[in-house]
Amino acid sequence: MQPKCKCCNSELEKNEIALNKKLIESDLKEFLCLDCLADELCCDVQDLLIKIEEFKDSGCKLFS
Ligand SMILES: [Zn+2]
Repeated sequence: MQPKCKCCNSELEKNEIALNKKLIESDLKEFLCLDCLADELCCDVQDLLIKIEEFKDSGCKLFS
């Protein structure tokens, strides 16, 4: 089953879910899409995309 954003119900990609876990809580059950996550954290979607790249570069296995 494809996880969906708990705010706007849009479908989530693996990296979006991984970022939720990294930035909020590792055993999180409900996730936010990048738009809603950016709102929640008061930052830009672009900042989150950069974060994803950083986690990928650091070799984190949650990201692909
Ligand atoms: Zn959303």
